[in-house]
Amino acid sequence: MCFKITDREVSKNLWMAQSAINDDNAALIAKIIKATLPEFRKLLNFSRDVRFRVGPIKKRLSNGRYWSMSEVVEIDSRQTPEEALEVLAHELVHAEQYHEKRLVNKWLKRDGWVCYWNGKRNNSKGSTYNSYMSQPWEVEAYSRQLSLVKTVHKLMIKKIEKRNEKKQSRTQRPTNTQV
Ligand SMILES: [Zn+2]
Repeated sequence: MCFKITDREVSKNLWMAQSAINDDNAALIAKIIKATLPEFRKLLNFSRDVRFRVGPIKKRLSNGRYWSMSEVVEIDSRQTPEEALEVLAHELVHAEQYHEKRLVNKWLKRDGWVCYWNGKRNNSKGSTYNSYMSQPWEVEAYSRQLSLVKTVHKLMIKKIEKRNEKKQSRTQRPTNTQV
């Protein structure tokens, strides 16, 4: 679990580390998560209860992480908003993999934590760069992240256009004012 007692919930299910709250970059990342989440929901099948945390990830191990037990997406606050959006897409793919039980972590008395991918045990610990990148759940997340971001971008533009159209039609005055 990644939450700290000093974290604050800045909007529903969106948490920020205390050190990130007054940081403009972190605030922008949080805003992006909030704005894009409804669009990501249209594209990916992940838990309704997923929560987000924006803050510096311990030891700078990664730019993002999905905590499957607590259903938390953690996004590092020390990257650009563009990078963070791609990391968000990546972590939400993992959220879908767990939600659909394509990826399962099981505790076995003999072996400790073991990963199952599509019902098959996978012994890769991902301890080297190559073994991490060849884990099937990472292969999938890396191959989908950019196209997800692009689709979310398109959906957001459509949304804004629709909103503007509505605004325009409301402010349009009747033109037949001749007498
Ligand atoms: Zn990953």
